[in-house]
Formats: sequence, C-alpha cells, structure tokens
Amino acid sequence: MLSIFARLPLLHKILIGLISAVIVFSMIFLPSPSALRKNEKHLEIGRHYPLSINKEALAPGESIPPTAVLRWERHIVKSGESAAVLFQRIGLSSRLLYEITASSVRAKQQLSRLKPGNKLVFGFNQENKLIQLRRTINPYESFLITRTPTGFKTSIDKKEIHYQYNYTEATIVSNFWNAAKKAGLTGNQIMELAGIFGWDVDFALDIRKGDQFRLLYQEKVVEGEVVGKGNIIAAEFINQGDTFKAILDDTSGNYYDENGRAMKKAFLRAPLDFRRVSSNFNPRRLHPVTGRIRPHRGTDYVAPIGTPIWAAGDGVVIKSSYNQFNGNYVFIKHSNTYITKYLHLKRRLVKTGQRVKQGQTIGQLGRTGRVTGAHLHYEFLVHGVHKNPRTVKLPESKSLAGSRKQTFLASAKIKLAQMKHYSLVLTAKR
Ligand SMILES: [Zn+2]
Repeated sequence: MLSIFARLPLLHKILIGLISAVIVFSMIFLPSPSALRKNEKHLEIGRHYPLSINKEALAPGESIPPTAVLRWERHIVKSGESAAVLFQRIGLSSRLLYEITASSVRAKQQLSRLKPGNKLVFGFNQENKLIQLRRTINPYESFLITRTPTGFKTSIDKKEIHYQYNYTEATIVSNFWNAAKKAGLTGNQIMELAGIFGWDVDFALDIRKGDQFRLLYQEKVVEGEVVGKGNIIAAEFINQGDTFKAILDDTSGNYYDENGRAMKKAFLRAPLDFRRVSSNFNPRRLHPVTGRIRPHRGTDYVAPIGTPIWAAGDGVVIKSSYNQFNGNYVFIKHSNTYITKYLHLKRRLVKTGQRVKQGQTIGQLGRTGRVTGAHLHYEFLVHGVHKNPRTVKLPESKSLAGSRKQTFLASAKIKLAQMKHYSLVLTAKR
C-alpha cells in the first residue's frame, strides 16, 4: 500500500493528502447534521425568523373579491369635468354614482372635489360591477371607496414613506440657478439653498464663475420610487474663495455652521430675490446714473420695476418719504449702530415709525428720483458711515450653547463626514 502511494506522481500525492485532511477535519470539527437541526429549535433573542402567514385566514369573511383579480381602468379627470360627466364619459350609470355619493359624506366630498388632472382608478369584477374606486391624493395616499355586502365603505390607503440621502455638487459656470438645475435640484431646493446661505452670500451680485456648492439632502421614497425631495441635511458653498458650511439642526429645523453658529444673521446680504437681478455676472456694470464702473456709496441692483424690496433686518422705519433725488425712499434703523436705506422705489409699503421684520416687503423697485434706469439703490450705514453691505462685518449671530450645542456638533460631524464620503464616491466614479 505504501509502495503504491510512493510510486504515484507528486501532484496525486498532494491531492490525496489534502482530501484526507479535509475528511479528518470535517469528522472532528464540524457538527453532525442532527446537532444542527437541534439548534434550530432554540430561537435566538433579537433574531428575525420568517413566519408563513395564511393570507386567506386574515381576509374578511365577506364576498369581496381580492383586488388582485379585478380589472383596473385608469381615468384622468378632464378640464371642467364633474364626477357625473366623468361617469357618463366612461360608461358608468348615474345611479351608481348616486349610490356611492349617498353612502357617506366622505365619499361625496371626495367625488365633488375632482380637479382636472386627478387620477381615478376603477376596479371591476368579472360581472363588470364596480368593486373599488381609488382617487390618488398624493404619491403616498389614496382615497378608496370599496363595495361591501353592506354598501360602499371609504378608507385611506397610506403607503409608508422612507427617507434616503442623496448628494449633488456643482461648479458655477454661467450662473447659480443654471448650475443648480444641472445638478438636479428642484426650484424649491435652489431657493432653500440660497436661503440657507443668503445671510453670508449675496446671490444677486457676488456669485462668480468657479464658485462651488455641494449638498446632502433627503429624498422621499415610496415603494422603492423617489416621489419627492426632503430637507437639505448639510451643504457647503464656496463663494470667491470663502467656504461656508451649513448643517441642519434636527431639533429646531434651523441651520448652523460647523461651530454651532446660526446661519440666520441680523441682516440679509441682498434685500431682494436674486432671481430678479439682471446683472448676476457683470461686476463691471456701469452705474445707471453716474456711468462709472464702481457704484458710489451704495449697491445698485438692476431688476424689473415692481420687484419686491425686503427689509434687510428687523427695525423701525425712520423715514418713508419722497424727494426729487431719492424718489420714493425708505430708511430703516436697526439699532443704534445700523441703518439701511432703500432708494428710487416705485411704491413704498411702510410708513415712518412702523416696525418691520427681516424679509418683510417694504416697497417695490422703481425708477423714481434722479435716475436714468430702474434699479434699487441700497445703502448700509454703520455708526453713520457708509459700508459695502456685501462685505461689511455683521454682528455675531446667535450660537447654540450647552448640551444642545454638544448634540448638534456630534451630529454635524457625522453629516459633514457623510457629505464628504458622497463627494469622494462621486469623484471616484468620474
Ligand atoms: Zn445708485
């Protein structure tokens, strides 16, 4: 026996050796099949075990056919169409409609509220009898009217909403809006992003080619499909070399920077909607009156007549008046230190002595006074001295403190790390 083994080629010897080792190992160390079966009877705490469910046993003992076997028809409500017209169009009787609307107030309400574009789904059984009517309220809720042996019953079908994170980033080439659109953001998200950084960055005049932003945001998912965008979780904006970071505080719903300082500040950088301002990318724009390149003692925003003008901060209107130079003008005193001035308005919407809140509309952009074109002339005074409102150092914003700050900083760290991770993944994919 040994001599036969000795005469075998080397490869065979190695194989025989290995196989024998495996057999010996499995005999000694592996549990016997009976031992495995025995273990199954001991359920472990915290582990999930599949259970088979008898679905028929759970179904109501009534003669409603399972909705799966129904024939479904989808109809979109047309312009000016009532439930009566719709029922007629798709060949359902007015008696059926009456039966449904008479069955409950809620059914009647739902069918009297039809709007063009609403989606209705009708489920018929084999005898062509209407068994269920579904009206989609939104991607996660449907109103159901179901025929039962005791009449029509109403219910709401709610799908579970899950949230997932998504990430996007962009470098601005032509303007902020286009870059954000290209990065896949919705109009709401773009305004939200501009709102978060609107105290630090003047989106109307200070965005430059090469500015960057990145953000981590929530998406609403229903049955595996993204049905909407949720909150911005964390974002970064690089404007002319300055980096600003903002992270959502889950407790308050407000945004703070990575040190827990509020993004919301005492003053807005720009007192109007950046989308209305026409000269986003022309810093060398001539002044509408003087013809000089650099604006004088204020900032000029060229935008359509009628554009709403906002109070840059909370304060009291110290002057709301008219003269031949300023046209219609509003001065607001925010504290003993700060005064803001708004000139050439078409209309003033506040009176002298009135208290105003940050972001409140105080007038409309116009071309009154000594001007050659419509624009807002905006001045920012600190202790009576004119400052550039876009670069002036503004009062310290409120910071989080104590345990709230600690909680925020811990979660901010995770969110920023997640954003960085997504950014790296995206870079690696390119
Ligand atoms: Zn001016």
